[in-house]
Amino acid sequence: MRIPMIAGNWKMNTTVAEAVALVKEMRPELDQIDNVDKVICPPFVSLAAAKELLAGSSIKLGAQNLYFEEKGAYTGEISPLMLAELCQLVIIGHSERRQYFHETIELVDKKVQAALKVGLKPILCIGETPRENEAGKTEEVLSRQLSLTSEQAYHTGLVLAYEPIWAIGTGRAATGEQANQTIGFIRRYIAKQHGREIAQSVRILYGGSVTADNIAEFIEQPEIDGALVGGASLKPSQFLGIVKQTSEIKRVK
Ligand code: PEP
Repeated sequence: MRIPMIAGNWKMNTTVAEAVALVKEMRPELDQIDNVDKVICPPFVSLAAAKELLAGSSIKLGAQNLYFEEKGAYTGEISPLMLAELCQLVIIGHSERRQYFHETIELVDKKVQAALKVGLKPILCIGETPRENEAGKTEEVLSRQLSLTSEQAYHTGLVLAYEPIWAIGTGRAATGEQANQTIGFIRRYIAKQHGREIAQSVRILYGGSVTADNIAEFIEQPEIDGALVGGASLKPSQFLGIVKQTSEIKRVK
């Protein structure tokens, strides 16, 4: 059985004071919801405060990025060892990092390996651009993005997030059926690479303009195990709505 997961990617939003207020507001209700792994990913500077506020709760903490070296002369970077003290998960290869910071497939894989080495669970993001989508290259792009991911990474609990770039922050979500089909393809690709058991056990989230109004459409699909949520994760009533619906819908199935 794959436990559903809802992860909130706060991106470069919230000061420390704002993050503290948001965590305080969401914690009581979020903590009560079962049958879903609940994750919030605030900016680096708020992780320590969020960790303290979430102590003793069922809510997990994630970072939004990391560097692959453990320490040294890499001014401005944050290492896996630093994060391992603060959180349990880390988003890697988000399309904004691939696009604006030129992260390559090779760099993304180094980050995945570095995270796993210190016991951080990667949420590895993959997805095609609008142009690739229109050219019918979605499957080719996703296969390439997954080509370096090792069997060991899946065994250690790596989570995948399929995020079509044309759906991120645009308000133009994929349909549940579209996302289910593509995630089905991802599972078949992983089955070919590493076997059916791994393909069936890996959690694959959908991401791209998910809200409390459309989450049900995704969660009702059999291949989709949850969501990586950007904009709506900053609004407590939206995020709580998404998590609650996920818990209920996946419980019935
Ligand atoms: C994201 O940042 O991963 C994301 C899916 O953003 P949004 O929900 O705002 O589209």
